[in-house]
Amino acid sequence: MTNKYDAIIIGAGMSGLAAGIRLAMYDKKVVILEKHSIAGGLNSYYARRIKASKEIINFDVGLHALTNFANKGERRRPFTKLLKQLRIPYDDFKLKEQTFSLIKFKSAALKFSNDFELMRSEIATVFPQQVDQFDKLVNYLVEYNETDLKATYISTRSVLETYLSDDLLKEMIIAPLLIYGSAWEEDMDFSQFVIMFKSIYLEGFSRPVGGVRTIIELLIDKYQSVGGELRFKAPVSQIKADTHVKGVYLADGEFLESQKIFSSAGLPETFSLLNEAESLKSDIGKMSFTESIIVTQNKQAIQNYKATIVFYNESDKYLYRKPDTLIDTSSAVFCLPDNYELENKDGNGTARITYMANYDLWKKLSKAEYLAQKENVYHQANKLTQKILGQKVDCIFKDVFSPTTIERYTGHFSGTVYGATKKTRDGQTSIPGLYIIGTDQGFLGIVGSMLSGISMSNLYGLMES
Ligand SMILES: Cc1cc2nc3c(=O)[nH]c(=O)nc-3n(C[C@H](O)[C@H](O)[C@H](O)COP(=O)(O)OP(=O)(O)OC[C@H]3O[C@@H](n4cnc5c(N)ncnc54)[C@H](O)[C@@H]3O)c2cc1C
Repeated sequence: MTNKYDAIIIGAGMSGLAAGIRLAMYDKKVVILEKHSIAGGLNSYYARRIKASKEIINFDVGLHALTNFANKGERRRPFTKLLKQLRIPYDDFKLKEQTFSLIKFKSAALKFSNDFELMRSEIATVFPQQVDQFDKLVNYLVEYNETDLKATYISTRSVLETYLSDDLLKEMIIAPLLIYGSAWEEDMDFSQFVIMFKSIYLEGFSRPVGGVRTIIELLIDKYQSVGGELRFKAPVSQIKADTHVKGVYLADGEFLESQKIFSSAGLPETFSLLNEAESLKSDIGKMSFTESIIVTQNKQAIQNYKATIVFYNESDKYLYRKPDTLIDTSSAVFCLPDNYELENKDGNGTARITYMANYDLWKKLSKAEYLAQKENVYHQANKLTQKILGQKVDCIFKDVFSPTTIERYTGHFSGTVYGATKKTRDGQTSIPGLYIIGTDQGFLGIVGSMLSGISMSNLYGLMES
């Protein structure tokens, strides 16, 4: 077998798998190289045995929500376009919708659901003076071309300032969008804000039955059915390039040749494979997180609460920045995956709690300190769970990921989840033939990453040839 490919893809995360499907579908000889033994990247899955009941449970590493919800057959929605491009039937995703989610600050709370009217009516009730201006803002966002590949950074807070005068409302609107996708501290790029506003508030949340594993298995099956090659435990150690990209070296020394490389490893991470990481060091994002998973036998307590996701903030000002301490417990995302399908009353219940975290401080810990601090994160998360649910929950299983876990499993420098602060919106790099897909192309989240893989492979893998 020759080692020459039409395209090489680095990473079997959402963007890499989606790009691979498009290229293989059009008979390109394509290989996806994944350094781990499992696909999914930032959003993968794993299984653990629960000691008390001896049952084995599948956990999502990250999944809180699949954004961009669309009903079956709904036209011109990103999710529907994605399915069409990947030729995967809607029903295969087995989506369950959120009940509603909650933005809970010190002085006010706002509900939203997959029906945008709920959010609008909540704003009309809680902030009656602001609702007309909110409508104007929404009209502006709906017309905005957020996918313009040539767009440059615009501060979202400066745009919000021109529409809304109530500081609390501005904070409440931006908070979920910051924590679900901003590589920048305190503020975010306006195109990114529009993408997120539409995907979270206008379209909404759902979750596939079976969690992220359902999505990953669908993507792998599709990719392999159209003839794509997928190699696990195949870390790329170097990208070979001079005036044009030539191919990649794997860690075991094997060379794979191609004139086109699509990398989902991240922008600074990809340049480190060219030994040029230094020039991009300042662009490494600062935002990382801890994620706690708490499993309880008291599913009733969770389902009685009804909300699917709570964006919790202790004060009325939202601080979205790398904390000076290991974690910042003044805000959190509190996700109850069981509340996507309230009809299923059996089994255990799960709560997932995300805190902003400081990678550098986590990285410095000794092994013993690290384990003790993970235990502390769990205790904080458990306390918050009881506070929000208003009752004690027994915990039969717990797990905590830290920024260094994220770094270890994804290769993202500093354990960043939303990648570098410099995005390459058109996917191009200074090296002809080397393209960036996924998080650092600027489309985030599961749906965004898949759309990135699709659009970049269409543009540079299919249309150019
Ligand atoms: C805790 C957590 C919770 C999240 N929750 C949600 C959510 O609820 N909803 C949502 O939409 N999004 C969520 N996200 C974000 C979402 O997971 C990501 O935006 C998306 O998965 C990014 O996909 P990607 O393909 O761009 O990159 P990645 O997932 O980072 O994939 C890159 C892949 O490249 C591989 N790789 C890197 N370097 C090399 C190399 N040198 N050689 C070979 N392989 C390499 C990595 O192992 C990885 O598999 C969450 C993320 C985290 C961490």
